[in-house]
Amino acid sequence: MDYQVLLYYKYVEIDDPQAFRNEHFNLCSSLGLRGRILIATEGMNGTVSGTIEQTEKYMEILQNDPRFSDMVFKIEPSEEHAFKKLKVKVKPEIVNLSLEEDLNPNEITGKHLSPKEFFETLQRDDVIVLDARNTYEYDLGHFRGAIRPDIETFRELPQWVRENLSEHKDKKILTYCTGGIRCEKFSGFLVKEGFKDVSQLEGGIISYGYDTEVKGALWDGKCYVFDERISVSVNRTGEETIVGECYHCGKQEERYVKCGNPECNKHLLLCEDCEHEHYRSCSTVCKEHPHNRYVKEHQLA
Ligand SMILES: [Zn+2]
Ligand SMILES: [Zn+2]
Repeated sequence: MDYQVLLYYKYVEIDDPQAFRNEHFNLCSSLGLRGRILIATEGMNGTVSGTIEQTEKYMEILQNDPRFSDMVFKIEPSEEHAFKKLKVKVKPEIVNLSLEEDLNPNEITGKHLSPKEFFETLQRDDVIVLDARNTYEYDLGHFRGAIRPDIETFRELPQWVRENLSEHKDKKILTYCTGGIRCEKFSGFLVKEGFKDVSQLEGGIISYGYDTEVKGALWDGKCYVFDERISVSVNRTGEETIVGECYHCGKQEERYVKCGNPECNKHLLLCEDCEHEHYRSCSTVCKEHPHNRYVKEHQLA
């Protein structure tokens, strides 16, 4: 059977997020969709999977709702569901940037560049290309020449910018993320901080990879995704490369595992040899942790 994965978001006011959540959960479950959807007063952010019929029906229903009539869906073909369950949650924000002063991307945000415009701007030598994702996402794949902010969660990004980019407010800044949603607020934050020329990749890395003209050019490695697939291809020009490296031995590796210590859970690119040698852990402390999952699974204790 043919499936599709949909990625979408919309910043639009939702009056009663809890009521909307309940209604939306019923809609998705009656259609047979699975995935993760976040709902807040500021809007909706979702990734769902289902058969072509189920997902097409879902898009049609949403586009008939005036609030979401212009919502853009990034559609990826898939062989099966990308999620085990359906989760619809009410949150304070649809992406957690935790700014001290929240902003509305409908009022303040960076310029949107199409994949083609982004591709062309990428090749200029007077731009700063900033990856707006976490280090473990960057390490699996990224745009050639992009800066890797040393952060574990998106919430840390504003502070990182203040410490590392403050002298470059006159430079042209390009930002990108998986589906475009993180950049909506983040580029708005940059504009508010006084950066004069801020642009973001419209539709994110996923749309860039499916763009029929650029075909994911200048993307190295794979793209981390937050579902069962873990990673997807982006560069379809025929020059596919591997940039991921095993956390311990440095060998080329694209396989992600979570640190065996349930209190650590750090994302690790780990080869199979190192997984066994280090009990799937990032450190000696995690390796020797009394609840190490690898030790349990292999009945070593
Ligand atoms: Zn290794
Ligand atoms: Zn660890």
